[in-house]
This record gives sequence, C-alpha cells and structure tokens, in this order.
Amino acid sequence: MVAQLLDGKKIAAKILAKVQQAIVSLPQKPRLAIVRCGDDPASVLYTAMKQKKAEEIGIQAELYVFSGTIDQQKVIEKIQCLNATVDGIMVQLPLPAHLSERQICDAIDIDKDVDGLTQQSLAQVMNNQELHAPATPKAVIRLLDEYHLPLAGKQVVIVGRSALIGKPLAIMALHRDATVSICHSKTPDLAKHTRHADVLISAVGKPHFITSDMIQENAIVIDVGISKQDNQTKGDIHPDVIQKAAFLAPVPGGVGPMTIAMLLEAVAEAKIYKMNPREKIKSEKEE
Ligand code: NAP
Repeated sequence: MVAQLLDGKKIAAKILAKVQQAIVSLPQKPRLAIVRCGDDPASVLYTAMKQKKAEEIGIQAELYVFSGTIDQQKVIEKIQCLNATVDGIMVQLPLPAHLSERQICDAIDIDKDVDGLTQQSLAQVMNNQELHAPATPKAVIRLLDEYHLPLAGKQVVIVGRSALIGKPLAIMALHRDATVSICHSKTPDLAKHTRHADVLISAVGKPHFITSDMIQENAIVIDVGISKQDNQTKGDIHPDVIQKAAFLAPVPGGVGPMTIAMLLEAVAEAKIYKMNPREKIKSEKEE
C-alpha cells in the first residue's frame, strides 16, 4: 500500500481563491506588514514568498526590513506604529540572538496578530479560542479537516515542543478530543512513542529523521520539519514512510503552503471583521 498524499498545495490554492473572492469587493485592500530583521537566507526566502502570494490574491503586503544589529526598541516602536495603520502584522522568526522574540512579538496588538505570535493569542489557544492561533499548527489542523480526518479518539504523537508549533498544536489536538503525547530531544526511546501514533506529527528540522520502522502501519503522518541538505529541501519524514502510512503530508507541498494560506486568510478576516464584526470567511465545514 502507498500512502495517500495530503496535498497542501492544492488545498491552500482553494483557500486562497476563496480569500481572494472575499476581499475583491472591499473598498480598500487588506494590509499586511511583514517585519524582518537581518538577512538570514531562509527568512529572506519565506518573507518574499509570503509577500508574493499576498499580492497575488489582492492583499497589500509591506515588507519592513531592519539590519541584523538593530536596536530592539526601534523594532518595537515600528510595530507600535503599524498597529495603528495595517490590518495584520507578522514578524519573521527566528530573530537575531540579541533580540527578544517574546518582547518584539508581544508588541503586536492582538487583533493584528495574524500569525498568532503573541502571548495573548497563545493564551486564547489554551482557552479553545483559535481566532489567531499560530499559523503552522492551524495549517496542520486545517489540512486534516479538509481531508475529513478527525482527531477525536486518536492517539496523536507530536515530535517537537516549540512554543509556536509543538505546544499549541498539542493543545489544539487535545481540544479535538485526541489523546496527545509530546516528544522532544530528551525523550528516551522516541520510537516507542511514535510507533503508537495513529497520527504522527514531526516538527524537528532534521532531514529524514523519522524512518518507517518508527511508525505504525496505516498511520496518518504529517511532516512539518523543513531543512536544507545537499541544496535540497527535506522534511523530517523519510521517503520510505510512504509505503507504510495511510496518509502523508509531505515536504514540500504539505504543511508549508497551508501555513501561508492560514496567514493570509487571517489578514483578510482581520480586515473584514474590522468592517463587520459578525463576518468571517467560511470554511468548507461551516458551509
Ligand atoms: P525548534 O524550536 O528548533 O524546535 C525543534 C523541536 O525538535 C524541539 O522541541 C526539540 O526538542 C525537538 N528535537 C530536536 N532534536 C530532537 C530529537 N533528536 N528527538 C526528538 N525531538 C527533537 O523548531 P520549530 O520552530 O518548532 O520548527 C520545527 C521545524 O518546523 C523546523 O524544521 C522548521 O523549519 C519547520 N517549520 C515549518 C513550517 C511550515 O510551514 N511547514 C513553519 C515553521 C517551521 P527540545 O525542545 O528538547 O530542544
């Protein structure tokens, strides 16, 4: 058996077409501010991709680039100004080491926090209010929803416990009645845990780290990790896993495009919601 691929690229295109349709008749384009500090090549690439996709669907994306040695207060002041003018703000992470990601992200007003970066948004996730959940966990959940793969009653194992991926994703899966385990670099005998997963989600960033002997037959496997090796983009999941899993969200083409779609959908919703607090772009499930 070969796993069915969860085609994030196709689903993201469908979501973005809907967003485009929802904003085409607005009197002004929604405005997204993207803040980048320094010239980390991956951050340059990701911000360019987000800006291009935003412009394609009718969102005005403004890139604010600071040097890698910028003073933290200057970035915070810029974000505070942007809070008053744009519909959504995202800070491209990681930031250079001398900057506090927490303090900079927390300068974003919660209603502009379209990437779910602030402590307030994370607290909302804890309380099962996911208006501004972080985009990557939201992307994973939405991809599963779009393929009608419910988490209720499932054993979900997440490898990775970062504040913006593993931890909020675990809470979101818990709110969908999954039984959740979170593994990390100090977990002894990782395979013992991953082999019990009905749904295995890996967000580590080590190429082909999860091999087919580490998964349960017919598992749903979601690859979140992105790393570069030999000039190629690789995920955490070894390609052989496709022979054993029932469903696989691959890298590239799985969670990555969905993450951008979640960000841009949130920008459009922030704009529409500001104009009419009752409106929200309807997902397939709500229709
Ligand atoms: P991160 O903060 O570096 O977290 C990595 C996690 O992996 C940590 O919790 C770490 O454990 C765990 N880990 C490292 N080695 C391990 C091992 N040997 N066994 C088990 N766990 C191990 O990274 P992140 O920001 O969460 O991102 C994770 C990956 O997702 C990266 O590859 C990133 O590029 C990718 N990403 C993808 C998207 C997308 O749209 N697809 C978006 C954002 C990020 P400790 O906590 O113990 O150190």
